Amino acid sequence: MSDIDYFSEKQNPSSWYHLADLSTVKKWLGSDMVCPACGRTHSISTKMMEESDNMAGRIADYLPELGLSGNCVVVMDENTKRAAGNKLMSGLEKYNPRAVTFARDDLHADEQALGTLLMALGEKPDFLVSCGSGTITDITRYNAYMTDLPFVSYATAASVDGFASGSTPLLVNGFKTTCPGKAPVGIFYDAGVLAGAPDSMTAAGFGDVLAKIIALIDWRLAYVAEDEPYCPMIAAIVDKAVEQCLDLADDLAIGNDKNRAQACISLMDTLSLTGIAMQMMGTSRPASGSDHHISHLLEINDIRNHKKGSLHGDKVGIGTLIGMSMYLKLFGNGDIPEQRPHLAADLWEQEVRRVYGPLADQAIAKNTPYPPRGEEWERQKKQISHAMDLYGYKYVDRFRTLLPYARDRITAMGGPVRPDQLGYTRQETYDAIAYGKEVRPKFTTLRLAERFGWLYDLAEEIANGLPEGKIY
Ligand SMILES: [Zn+2]
Ligand SMILES: [Zn+2]
Repeated sequence: MSDIDYFSEKQNPSSWYHLADLSTVKKWLGSDMVCPACGRTHSISTKMMEESDNMAGRIADYLPELGLSGNCVVVMDENTKRAAGNKLMSGLEKYNPRAVTFARDDLHADEQALGTLLMALGEKPDFLVSCGSGTITDITRYNAYMTDLPFVSYATAASVDGFASGSTPLLVNGFKTTCPGKAPVGIFYDAGVLAGAPDSMTAAGFGDVLAKIIALIDWRLAYVAEDEPYCPMIAAIVDKAVEQCLDLADDLAIGNDKNRAQACISLMDTLSLTGIAMQMMGTSRPASGSDHHISHLLEINDIRNHKKGSLHGDKVGIGTLIGMSMYLKLFGNGDIPEQRPHLAADLWEQEVRRVYGPLADQAIAKNTPYPPRGEEWERQKKQISHAMDLYGYKYVDRFRTLLPYARDRITAMGGPVRPDQLGYTRQETYDAIAYGKEVRPKFTTLRLAERFGWLYDLAEEIANGLPEGKIY
């Protein structure tokens, strides 16, 4: 690909905003579309996304259109049973619903939960219904994939963007692993139920939405630096949805009941749309960047230390605020950072072993001790510099106001904005920023800082300054 292609107007998400709204994307549901922006065929297996009052009571009306008939199993836990599960069971009466209700209060999508559901599917149903948020949906998704049964998702909280996902994050032997899965044929929700979910879950959903601000710039820079597959139309879908959602932050935080319910629907629309964007791209790139890598490392350590984890979106929201402050520190003065030396290879390996413990061999195998150097890095730097001039500095400059805005809104919603609020130490925070990148060999803010030789200094500065309120 020539240089001109990377920077043409066609590669600018704003050129595709006219195709990037919910009503347009809804027309593509359940189909393969040839993309006018990138030329790829984007497949969407989810056929329906619907919101309605009393959705639990009405859901049966939508199912014939999805080709569903026969008997179903409804998967829930004690909380989601109370929130909507009981109603859903009566709403699905003509499908002879059978409930599988998890009672564990530390429910994870792990071997035990997956096996419990699998064993309950003995008298094989014709389809599955998940009634819950991330974990319940993932347990159902993996079993739907393994048993080749269709499933529909009834979302009880706008807490995560994974509802529409086609892959499943599972705990395998205590390690977070991305496994195959199946996207739901339909996603259903109800403003009243979403607004009734715990505030902390809604705050986490808002954190997962915020992450897209970093994910999108990470992705676009990965495209110019490393020629990673990019679709400006999918980027536009995510970008536009996130912008609309940002405007609703006050309603989510302090709105009256009516405004809050409306804002919860918009939050759920945004989370579903970004899930659809991931389905279209076939990767998590449109929705996850350094924000998620910082979060994954915190989570891996929680699991290793048998610590009860926090919500995904909580850690991702923190990762996003840190990502914004890193972009500001790297590019805030309107210039490419000065080149500093890289960490020596033996020291890098020693540190990865310290941070990753039993997972270190895996982390070392999928990464290289040094980032690209010499001619390759010079070429990448030129591309990054051009991209920054064209759109990057403007994008990063906005973080000066967006960062405090996001911090204050998450706080008002009752969510955490600093790792110490979730009980992480200064060292754990440093490790997540400095070594979050080894989770996946993907180009993100963290890689960018590493390539310029700034990463470990920035990680130190941010980890030290955060608890004292010196960073944001
Ligand atoms: Zn495309
Ligand atoms: Zn996420």
